[in-house]
Amino acid sequence: MLSLVPEIYQMKKSIRSSRKDLDRLRLNLFQKQIRNIYENVPFYREVFKKLHIAPEDFQKIHDLRKLPIIMKEDIRNNREKFFNEKMNSEKCFHSFSSGSTGQPFSSYFDKRCWVRKKYLSKLRARFSCGIHLGDRVAIFESEPAENLKRLNGFHPLRDLLLYIQYFSIFDDIDALLKRLIEFKPQNAYGPQSFFFYFAREVQKNKQTLSFLKRIYTSSEYGQRHAAQFIRDILQVEIYDIYGSTEFKEVSWECEQHQGYHINEDEVICEILNGNIPAAPGEVGEIVLTDLRNHAMPLIRYRIHDRGKILQENCPCGRTFSLMLPVAGRASEYIRLPDGEKISPFRFTTAIEKFSGLLQYQFIQESRADIVIKVIIDEKTSAKTFTNIEQMIKNITKGQMRVTVRKTDRILPEENGKFKVVKNMIQEPALA
Ligand SMILES: [Zn+2]
Repeated sequence: MLSLVPEIYQMKKSIRSSRKDLDRLRLNLFQKQIRNIYENVPFYREVFKKLHIAPEDFQKIHDLRKLPIIMKEDIRNNREKFFNEKMNSEKCFHSFSSGSTGQPFSSYFDKRCWVRKKYLSKLRARFSCGIHLGDRVAIFESEPAENLKRLNGFHPLRDLLLYIQYFSIFDDIDALLKRLIEFKPQNAYGPQSFFFYFAREVQKNKQTLSFLKRIYTSSEYGQRHAAQFIRDILQVEIYDIYGSTEFKEVSWECEQHQGYHINEDEVICEILNGNIPAAPGEVGEIVLTDLRNHAMPLIRYRIHDRGKILQENCPCGRTFSLMLPVAGRASEYIRLPDGEKISPFRFTTAIEKFSGLLQYQFIQESRADIVIKVIIDEKTSAKTFTNIEQMIKNITKGQMRVTVRKTDRILPEENGKFKVVKNMIQEPALA
């Protein structure tokens, strides 16, 4: 633990260091990682040999492009080749995800990297965005309550820095509210769709939770209107976080909400269109490289999320560059009867222009049927429905039957995650 002290100091410093210092640190970490994969990871040793390259050929970060892009499937079929042969996987920490395509995947981390990603990096971002030492934090997990008992019994940081309690989003909402009022957390952490549902219940019960000041949302594409509703009802500040099981937190919103600061001393974030870099500000596929994980280093890993890099510096003065994740996993595209695929981003940007809309979900029910479930406020006129219908008809080029359906609750998936766009047609080609 003591050996982490300089690391914590450096982490804190990096966030506001000069661009030059941060770039120097990144290049250093990058070259160290390149040497690691060349010396210890069989898959990369073969790649270097096949491409006739050596670690010395990686003098700048963009030399990364010399390496191939990999995906979950490449690793799943060949796991031991992606693992550091000098490390023992049984001594590593690992994370398991069922994945959006339902195919399970495990990522392994060496101890040092795990502590950084699982705790230090998250704490750094939270402490720089509102959380104070000794605060109470309610974490809402997409896990049944029985699974959380162990976590509620022990936490390495419990009572040391923060008071943390875990809650299940599947629990009865009245019981949850009661427990929350007893705990009085200043901070809550969980999926946006849960807090939206939660805020609706608070509104119905005419309750006030004045102790709650900040909500940190993650693991879903955030909806603008839903976020505004949560802010208005619960009177909180909302900070969204972008991350994944394989990399943990990748980027996070600061108090300026101008984009998401990339943890640049943890990952390299590329935005690609096909295999070439997207133009600055252009939306493309997010491809990540881990600078810290030496056990199972993911290099140029296509995460199947989309986003863009923002060119502007954040007014908050933090050095880490800004990015913006956007809706649109490959499996969530809408496919027109003529075969054309339409990005979810097209639908979400169009629908977010309508006021009075609190939450929505697009469901492609069959080749020619699309249903839009909407939760609206009382002031919304019937004309909004016709306008949404017309807008979707235009985007789908008149090829689909469009139904806009008012509802009171849009349920998350079984894993607790909310899908903005849901494709019910099982087509392998969609990926
Ligand atoms: Zn900022």
